[in-house]
Amino acid sequence: MEESQSILAAARIRLEKSLLEKGLRRSSERFAILDEVYSRTDHFDAEDLYLAMQQKSYPVSRATVYNTLEVFVEYGLVQRHQFGDEDNIKSRYEKSLGRQQHGHLVCTDCHRVKEFCDPRLHFIKTNVGESLNFQVQSHSLVFYGECTDVDCETKPGNTSVNN
Ligand SMILES: [Zn+2]
Ligand SMILES: [Zn+2]
Repeated sequence: MEESQSILAAARIRLEKSLLEKGLRRSSERFAILDEVYSRTDHFDAEDLYLAMQQKSYPVSRATVYNTLEVFVEYGLVQRHQFGDEDNIKSRYEKSLGRQQHGHLVCTDCHRVKEFCDPRLHFIKTNVGESLNFQVQSHSLVFYGECTDVDCETKPGNTSVNN
């Protein structure tokens, strides 16, 4: 797809620039990990990403994947979410360039993540910001519950993969 290609190109340029600015090595590993991140459409954890690199027989250590993800978060290439309750918080990541701001629905049974966009969120943000003299820069909104999908993993006999 052409659009995803140009988003990936923009992500690579941003990574290149940021590494240069910080005086960090522009290793091919970091770019390979970036490619993998931008080929995904899900909310993955660091382990998912590590396994995906393994499957592609790309030689990269677990530590490198974890560190690189943190670097991507710092550079605004990846968004980190903390899904879950206080007993079980899980970091999930998703690419951030080319994405609209959105909210999430997290199924507490099968741990799938769904996204939603609602223009009313923008209205609330502007409204609340103005009335409280607050420049809102970002927000996160997560709904927890149980999905009612027919193929939900919680239903007997289903073993869908987490999203
Ligand atoms: Zn579910
Ligand atoms: Zn998302």
